[in-house]
Amino acid sequence: MTSSCTCCGACCATYRVVFSLDETDQMLDAGVPAELTLKLNSEFCCMCGTDTKPQRCVALVGQVGKSVSCSIYARRPSPCRAFAPEAAGGHGDIACGNARRQHGLAPLAGSYDAVPFA
Ligand code: SF4
Ligand code: SF4
Repeated sequence: MTSSCTCCGACCATYRVVFSLDETDQMLDAGVPAELTLKLNSEFCCMCGTDTKPQRCVALVGQVGKSVSCSIYARRPSPCRAFAPEAAGGHGDIACGNARRQHGLAPLAGSYDAVPFA
């Protein structure tokens, strides 16, 4: 996680993280640990904890908005790798900003166009 993210973690406790079963370590060396996933159908699974309310990925360690880390960072699934690509530079996007707002955090710079959740 980037410095902006290690004191946040809001997205990991806001969105359902869905990806192909092909990304798990049952199909791929050093893939996402299958024991931390929930099979949704014959093609897809999600990170455990992201399919229930309140949402919080089981791989997230720490306190949202304070200090967090991903316990499977090197093996995290593709949605996590693709999320808010500019957050590394301290620039969020709509999804990042909305996640942060849900957890009482101000959007990062660049998230000015974030809209409230319906
Ligand atoms: S919500 Fe944005 S700033 Fe927070 S952890 Fe996710 S990408 Fe990083
Ligand atoms: S796998 Fe890691 S980066 Fe992805 S949602 Fe879970 S804690 Fe966050």
